Amino acid sequence: MASTEHVPSFAHLEYDTPLYRTAIAQFDQAVPYAEVDPGIAERLRHPERSIIVSCPIKLDDGSRVVFPGYRVQHSSVLGPTKGGVRYDPEVSLGECAALAVWMTWKCALLRLPYGGAKGGVRCNPREMSHVELERLTRRFTSELLPFIGPQEDIPAPDMATNEQTMAWMMDTYSMQRGHAVPEIVTGKPIAIGGSVFRHEATGAGVVMVIARACERLEWRLSEQRCVVQGFGNVGGIAAQELVDRGATVIGVSDVSGGVHDPAGLDIPTMSAYAREHGSLEGWDTGTRVSGEELLELECDILVLAAREDQIHGDNATRLRCRMIAEGANGPTSLEGDAVLLERGIPILPDVLTNAGGVTVSYFEWVQDLGRLFWGRDEIRAKLAEKLNDAFDRVWEISHERAIPMRTAALVAGIHDVSTALEARGLYP
Ligand code: NAD
Repeated sequence: MASTEHVPSFAHLEYDTPLYRTAIAQFDQAVPYAEVDPGIAERLRHPERSIIVSCPIKLDDGSRVVFPGYRVQHSSVLGPTKGGVRYDPEVSLGECAALAVWMTWKCALLRLPYGGAKGGVRCNPREMSHVELERLTRRFTSELLPFIGPQEDIPAPDMATNEQTMAWMMDTYSMQRGHAVPEIVTGKPIAIGGSVFRHEATGAGVVMVIARACERLEWRLSEQRCVVQGFGNVGGIAAQELVDRGATVIGVSDVSGGVHDPAGLDIPTMSAYAREHGSLEGWDTGTRVSGEELLELECDILVLAAREDQIHGDNATRLRCRMIAEGANGPTSLEGDAVLLERGIPILPDVLTNAGGVTVSYFEWVQDLGRLFWGRDEIRAKLAEKLNDAFDRVWEISHERAIPMRTAALVAGIHDVSTALEARGLYP
């Protein structure tokens, strides 16, 4: 009989990046509480499939450039894989793998019939024209055609991609099939089968989770002073939702730096400004602070809605918030987690807190498949029900086992995926 004792874990070589190491270390912290067979756990450490493509496109000046693109599909045990597409200079195979792993636990935690995927193109979207982005999106979609589909893998927007990107992906896929296939992507414009409330879903979901946590902690949301890092789709909407619920947003930041006003910021006007100018660069009301200083402002709730690895062992010691809500994926490092645990600052973890996006994406896919569309209030209510249910399970596991909410959220997700994998057995 062959022994597996000395077989090296090959996955870590291909995917080895700080973010992937974080995702696997978090998995390893949760596994002992999730009652998982060691063989099943080992299978779940490895993404099922990874695709690396190269996307040649013509730039507006007539020159040609080749951009690397990736798609990682972590687990198809519960259904098609699902996950965003990002355009960013730091996109890599390992980053996509980590984000795909987290998507698997997130979908399972929310009880959505999906597994996790993530993809992206390494490029600088801020330096590219609308037409160049369209060419890139269509070529990237074409390269992925054999691997995506409404029953295989369903992309969605993520950093620097939006409704327009999804419309180009949907059109490229549909032209190859010869008929409209709206269910190939989610987060697309309403005119082509998008769902009302998808655009706001992630940011609104972040605030629904914060509201549930405040209820449990007996804090009044309307009395909280909040700081929001990131002012894009997630952070911009979350800031607005916080204001709508009576909280005071005293600081926000984006790539251009931060703005602070202890009396509260005018979020609607700032959002309109950021939409018009592409960022808050040049915004001159309130006190300008650096991105790093913004994180360390005294506040009640710090919402992280920019990108990964923002809170680490060093700055975690200097934070002056009472609670953190992770709208972004992977914004807190393992060392940051340990310091905050020690300091007693609770973290509402990404796999729970930003799950509003994939949940309403699921609603969009179901509506597209059924060709029957729901109203805004119905979707908002269904989303709140799903997030509250997930929050309550995480809260209970966390208190019963005396573990942080991040580990509890992963335990819930990992347990459901491993139970399904166990039931299906090992093919062939
Ligand atoms: P986005 O591109 O719309 O916005 C990102 C924002 O972060 C921008 O305002 C940008 O200027 C800012 N930013 C970037 N680097 C920064 C830094 N160092 N400091 C401060 N601000 C910075 O992207 P998004 O869709 O809002 O995604 C943000 C995060 O949320 C990502 O981690 C993404 O994976 C996650 N997320 C997004 C969705 C979604 O539905 N869009 C769903 C779940 C999770």
